[in-house]
Parts: sequence; C-alpha cells; structure tokens
Amino acid sequence: MRIVLVGPPGAGKGTQAAFLAKNLSIPHISTGDLFRANISQQTWLGKLAKSYMDAGDLVPDEVTIGMAKDRMEKPDAENGFLLDGFPRNVSQAEALDEMLRSESMKLDAVLDLEVPEEEVVKRIAGRRICRKDSSHVFHLTYSKPKKEGVCDACGGELYQRDDDSEATVRTRLEVYHTQTEPITDYYKAHGLVVTVAAVGTVEDVTTCVMEALKPDEDGK
Ligand code: ADP
Repeated sequence: MRIVLVGPPGAGKGTQAAFLAKNLSIPHISTGDLFRANISQQTWLGKLAKSYMDAGDLVPDEVTIGMAKDRMEKPDAENGFLLDGFPRNVSQAEALDEMLRSESMKLDAVLDLEVPEEEVVKRIAGRRICRKDSSHVFHLTYSKPKKEGVCDACGGELYQRDDDSEATVRTRLEVYHTQTEPITDYYKAHGLVVTVAAVGTVEDVTTCVMEALKPDEDGK
C-alpha cells in the first residue's frame, strides 16, 4: 500500500504512522524525522533545514523533494510506504505524482487526521520526544513517562523539540492552513481522501484509522 498521512502538527501522525507501518509491513517515511536525523548528524542539509524548522516554515522544495525521493527509492519501499509530512504543499504533491507516474505506481489512500486547533496547541506544548527514537513520544499531562525526562521504552533522554515552542507552533499552524490544507482538496479531486477524527485515546484513533483503510465491499 502507498499511503500519505496529512494532518496539522500535533495530530498524532507520528504515533499512528509507527503503528500502521508495523501493521501493514511498510516503511514509515517521515520527512520531519529525516531532517532531524540530518540536524543531529550536522550535515549540510541539516544545517540548512534547521533555520526553517525553528521558524516554523517549510524547508524549500528543492531539497525536500530530493530527500523524499531518495528515501522512497530505497529497496524497502518498493512494495509500499507510509508518507508522514510529505507532501506538504501542492508542488510537492505534484512532484510525488510525477515520481509515481514514472514508475507506473499510484497512491492507495490519503489519510487526513482531523483535530481541533485548541487541542493541537495543548498537545504540542506538553509533547516530549525521545532522543534515541523519535517514535517514542510522551506528554507531560496526557502520557507521562514513569520517570521525569526518561523514555519508558528505551531509557533515552526526553526533550522538547525546538519547533514545539508556542510561538513556532502558531506559525506552523498558519503554514499548515495556507500551504498543506490545499493538498487535501487536490487529493479529494482524485477521490483518495479518507478523513478520521483524531481525538480520543491513541487506541481509539488507531481503530478508526484501520477501519477507514479497509477496502470497500466492491474491492476499491
Ligand atoms: P509536525 O507534523 O509536528 O509539524 P514534522 O516533524 O513533520 O512535524 O515537521 C517538522 C518541520 O520539518 C516542519 O515544520 C518543516 O519545517 C519541516 N518539514 C517536514 N516535512 C517537510 C516538507 N515536506 N516540506 C518542507 N518542510 C518540511
């Protein structure tokens, strides 16, 4: 399956993606994680991306599209992938279409996670992430680690992302509305969008997501 995950920052894309990727045996490709890996390895791409990310802006398409393409061309993505954070604007969506078309491939679904804005701000303000594995995500109120500052799963250090500050979150939401939301309309025109209300527990959302991805009776 080839799936694109969209939703505002804090919608729980990473959390759901980790589960879905495992369940569907496809790689989870997160452009945010790829940029963060480049930042921690201090590559030129990481240095370039950091200034945009810290400001809450999109990293320029010229480098983002190339990075996403390189990752999608790895052998583990041959039979499918789950894209998280890409595409994030209409020109990236067009570039993805072009890439898929040239390989005679197509997307199976675009999963749109809907969350009210106040909820997003609350989720992000308390979010803490493991330095060793960014799929280990905690929250100071909703999903506290047993020991403050330490990941329950692997003992890694928990930290707050630089772009999770309140001021940056506002910009990220704005960028989401102006640049990313239009891709939902783009994909709606292709009949690919499945919308899921991403509120409630993580398990509730996972159940809804799996239900939404089930093929229709007529096999579509
Ligand atoms: P979130 O979904 O919580 O906003 P991500 O980890 O997906 O977080 O992305 C963090 C930041 O990385 C974005 O705010 C942006 O600066 C950059 N980024 C990630 N994916 C893309 C993309 N496809 N195009 C441009 N910038 C991106």
